[in-house]
Amino acid sequence: AAPAATSKPPPKQKEDARIEGSVQIAVGVKKEVLLKADMLDYYNVSGCYILKPWSYSIWEEIQKWFDAEIKELGVQNSYFPMFVSSKVLEREKDHIEGFSPEVAWVTKAGNSDLEEPIAIRPTSETAMYPYYAKWIKSHRDLPLKLNQWNSVVRWEFKNPQPFLRTREFLWQEGHTAHLTKEEADVEVRQILELYRRVYEELLAVPVIPGIKSEKEKFAGGLYTTTVEGFIPTTGRGIQGATSHCLGQNFSRPEMFNIVVEDPTDPTNQRKIHVWQNSWGLSTRVIGVMVMVHGDNQGLVLPPRVASVQVVVVPCGITVNTSNETRSKIEGACDELAKTLKKAGIKVKADLRDKTPGYKFNDWEQKGVPLRLEIGPNDLAKQQTLTVRRDNGVKSAVALDNIASTVSQLLESVQNDMFKRAQETFHSRLKEVTKWEDVVPTLDSKNVVVLPWCEREACEEDIKERSAKASEPTDERAPSAGAKSLAIPFDQSRWAAIEPGKTKCPACGNDAKRWTMFGRSY
Ligand code: AMP
Repeated sequence: AAPAATSKPPPKQKEDARIEGSVQIAVGVKKEVLLKADMLDYYNVSGCYILKPWSYSIWEEIQKWFDAEIKELGVQNSYFPMFVSSKVLEREKDHIEGFSPEVAWVTKAGNSDLEEPIAIRPTSETAMYPYYAKWIKSHRDLPLKLNQWNSVVRWEFKNPQPFLRTREFLWQEGHTAHLTKEEADVEVRQILELYRRVYEELLAVPVIPGIKSEKEKFAGGLYTTTVEGFIPTTGRGIQGATSHCLGQNFSRPEMFNIVVEDPTDPTNQRKIHVWQNSWGLSTRVIGVMVMVHGDNQGLVLPPRVASVQVVVVPCGITVNTSNETRSKIEGACDELAKTLKKAGIKVKADLRDKTPGYKFNDWEQKGVPLRLEIGPNDLAKQQTLTVRRDNGVKSAVALDNIASTVSQLLESVQNDMFKRAQETFHSRLKEVTKWEDVVPTLDSKNVVVLPWCEREACEEDIKERSAKASEPTDERAPSAGAKSLAIPFDQSRWAAIEPGKTKCPACGNDAKRWTMFGRSY
């Protein structure tokens, strides 16, 4: 369990030594890939990273899409300060217990100690809800749906991983208040569906929507829904994004007391404490995308989020090539890029004074989905050679009607990337009904799906019994043992659980639902 809440900043810890040590066994985003692809740089504060334009542009694409979708649902953007007073932060007991080990505190201004330390938001429930109480005075003020695009700070002690687990991360956090539980429930799933689409439709990364166990749910919430991803190279699960129903926990009288009169009560006596949701998706999505699609050559970007979808490279120019031919080829590349740009394709003609080999390698490392080559022969035949980054397939296509050919190709790349990743995920999702198969299946880099009893004690037991002796046993280390990842909403993929008959393979109690367990990030 997390240490109890305290308004004093925690004692100084030797966290950096622990983190540097554990980086040795870090399993995750390949450092070289990210550096070579110019995605990020390391920063001189441990656990923090610089997002360079090549990765930030992906975040911008996600923002653009998601922001438009939530506005359709009536959500408005706003901004709350990053500082939270210790008094409000600590008001909700479970919430602060969950977060307190990771809260960073401001204790000084210049040389003087602050009278009261001020927390930097790890998430904004407690920063926002005192004002929800002030603003929501009548059922007519409901629903209130606000979102923030901001950064939060969680002083994580698990292995930091670029994008996946960082101490400051960019995200959006939505916070809504509703009159009824039904309305809140509907929204939880609407948002989760948008998260699924960010992963599957934009990033071509398959995820499985489901609900978290009681142990894994958001601190202080009623229930947590999640889209769970999978990293094939390590066989680990990863929580993609979460949409929480907070119930009435934060609106209770002893908490933030967010209350309206019951509109169905003719006497106007009855009060309703509002139903609340919060939901967040972070820059972790970029790390998941890198790990799912990257290969030995570097990054592979899905066309929908690539800031350069197509690169045009002049080829076949040697020292013996006449200036006239050279300028014709370069002119044709430039022309081709202009045609594609007009059709809305994000394209770049690479006319740098470098060899084609250098350019191929450079754009391959950066993961540009499609390369078009034009050499003297292509020019003569009025064609271009297309080379797909995702599968290396080359084909010569006519320059006639090129914009529609390229659009279709990009569409195929996007779809094929998703299909391949989905096949992999499904093939590594193993139904297991005997305990003796659990650890070997996990060791072969799979996620196991168990008919589970849903008891917390059993979950802890599974974690302990599936921990690898060779890996860190730190309470909060990501690699210790298998935890429950999600109870998938779609249970139809597995045989029906027979009440009283199907048993939990870990403890022998009656199974309730098929649940994914895995080692995770
Ligand atoms: P939470 O508020 O804890 O439900 O977090 C919302 C989402 O943010 C999670 O589903 C993760 O995908 C992501 N997230 C949580 N912690 C981190 C972190 N340290 N770095 C990057 N993303 C994170």
